[in-house]
Amino acid sequence: MRIIDTHIHVGHKSEWTDRAQKVWMQTGPYIPLIYDDDQRQLPEQYGSVIKREGVFGGVLIPEYSPLTAGVMPIERAFEINTFHPELIPIANLNLNFHSDPASEFIRQMGLGARALKVHPIHGFFYANDKALYPIYDICQEKGLPVLFHAGTSLFEGAKMRYSDPYTFDDVINDFPNLKIVLCHGGRGFWYHIAEFLVKNFDNVYIDISGLPPANLLNYWPSMKKFAHKYLFGTDFPGVPGIGKNFDVLSGLIDSDEALGKIAFQNAYDLYGFWNEGLFGIEDKNEIFPVINDGSKRYKDVIPGDCYHEPYMPMGQLEGEMNRMSFYGYRKDLKVLGVTAREKVRDATLIRHAYVLNAEQGRGIGSKLLALIERQVDTEWLLVGTWKAADRAIRFYQKLGFKLMENKDELLRKYWDISDRQIETSCVLGKRLNYK
Ligand SMILES: [Zn+2]
Repeated sequence: MRIIDTHIHVGHKSEWTDRAQKVWMQTGPYIPLIYDDDQRQLPEQYGSVIKREGVFGGVLIPEYSPLTAGVMPIERAFEINTFHPELIPIANLNLNFHSDPASEFIRQMGLGARALKVHPIHGFFYANDKALYPIYDICQEKGLPVLFHAGTSLFEGAKMRYSDPYTFDDVINDFPNLKIVLCHGGRGFWYHIAEFLVKNFDNVYIDISGLPPANLLNYWPSMKKFAHKYLFGTDFPGVPGIGKNFDVLSGLIDSDEALGKIAFQNAYDLYGFWNEGLFGIEDKNEIFPVINDGSKRYKDVIPGDCYHEPYMPMGQLEGEMNRMSFYGYRKDLKVLGVTAREKVRDATLIRHAYVLNAEQGRGIGSKLLALIERQVDTEWLLVGTWKAADRAIRFYQKLGFKLMENKDELLRKYWDISDRQIETSCVLGKRLNYK
């Protein structure tokens, strides 16, 4: 079953306050895997650890709460998103930290944030503060979800009155079309108020993060009946295990239909982040058909002895997948284009860039390429293609790549291909980082 984790925290470990590290982070097995020795987040590993748990998509939450949780800026979310484009950054505002919340909101949205979270209990302001109303207005108009930390917090200094449920109720009533998520569903002692709100307002949802999943039906007895109003989320990295939590939830919700809604469909529909866009792809059965359809354009273009069908057999693809990271472009869950990145010595290679024939000319290849470019930390990004593949060569040239004169040398150094393939291939390169 597909899982969306709607509640993932980001940030260097050192950006969290000591107290937050102690009471919350250490609960999870993830800490040794996602930070370096200087307590900085390792963006690629951070997301890989999450994806390994079977997560299809996720919501990355920054936070600006210097007096309680810490300041984990939105840039951390984008660092992770660069390698894991299906993990989507959202904005965060604190009325006591951002002197001009409206322009800060616009700044974060300009970076690419796609929803808003506020943490009143950590920032010492109220969710119904009128300073936030123009921002809620924008969110309502644009259909951007607003998430509230709705419940208690164990972080030192957190003040419970700022989590007063009636302040959330004000916003719910003042913005009848605003999509609102009550994170943690009233954790502590107002679960029944949160439950009342999701039962009575179409646009209000609960995310189940930061709670022991075995107890959820005690907190919200109508959860199964209202399965369309609950969202799976974990509070990563402060969670015993994403997969573990999901397994416990599966034991609790005995209907596959209800479980599918909570784990995936509700978040997919509410956020709308994953309907179309870039994804890391780890399923060979999704990659295989795209490569073998997209490569048909080489038929009758490249030398006959170089073309065969399937263009790439499954066994070869499996070998390639062990060495490189594959990315794809999805629409309505279907993969329409794929590419892969491989770092070889001091260069980064683009490998296997293919778009389904029926989907070519829609800009999918350029989007995949732009993603790979953001990931490159080597001086050169190189791509090899057939000398006769005029269309592919023009595509790369349009995006700033140049045909490399020393292509034989490069093909021998960075690729492992036959002399015949070297003879019939060319290399295009783009210098991205000057050393
Ligand atoms: Zn949280």
